[in-house]
Amino acid sequence: MAISDGLKFFGGFKQSIKQVAEPRVTTQYPKEKAPKPPRLHGRHVLNRYEDGLEKCIGCELCAAVCPADCIYVRGADNDLDSPTSPGERYGYVYEINYLRCIHCDLCVEACPTEAITESKMFEFSFTSRSDAIYTKKELVVDDDGRPKHMPWEDWRDEDELHTSGWMRATSPAGNADMEGEVQWSGELGYGQRYPEAGQSDKRNDELTGNISIREVEKKKISVKLGGKVR
Ligand code: SF4
Ligand code: SF4
Repeated sequence: MAISDGLKFFGGFKQSIKQVAEPRVTTQYPKEKAPKPPRLHGRHVLNRYEDGLEKCIGCELCAAVCPADCIYVRGADNDLDSPTSPGERYGYVYEINYLRCIHCDLCVEACPTEAITESKMFEFSFTSRSDAIYTKKELVVDDDGRPKHMPWEDWRDEDELHTSGWMRATSPAGNADMEGEVQWSGELGYGQRYPEAGQSDKRNDELTGNISIREVEKKKISVKLGGKVR
């Protein structure tokens, strides 16, 4: 082999050798998780009002609209002395089959009371069919308004915040003048949530957690590179 050919051969390693000294930016999943997009559709929650009453009124609209036919709802009349929801009826049976759900969020859009929304947690798997069918016991939020955690679910702090963020982005009937106007009820543990950032200036990104995924990734890489952004 000619000397010049040998130099060309080793020249091919130049980039590899240079990278050895560079800080690693690989995310060590699942130990370390990458930030999720603000509107990610994860595992559902059934929300409650600030006074603790359930938002679900058992109307079955979510079940009717579901393209995967994975929601089963049965409504029942509220006990007037001890109502479960503020309406005439409440969701007596509520089930979602996660072996079928495609996380399209049509159920969230159809719900007239903002009862069903999605968290950002999608890291869950099952070893039995019965575990995959979530009932009210798993779906209704806790007394502090946070989602219940099943043993087979991998929750991180940010997964349970902003559970209904995405649905607050759009203006009613597409009227741009209404963008940013609060048209939704308060939630147990959170109160009335802020509007998600849209085209308007009525936004509070810190409160809504509406940070673009590009920004989050840039910050993460910047920290790993000691403040330098490539
Ligand atoms: S997210 Fe879509 S597929 Fe899943 S339960 Fe809701 S409507 Fe059905
Ligand atoms: S979650 Fe919403 S759409 Fe579904 S039954 Fe309850 S109130 Fe109706």
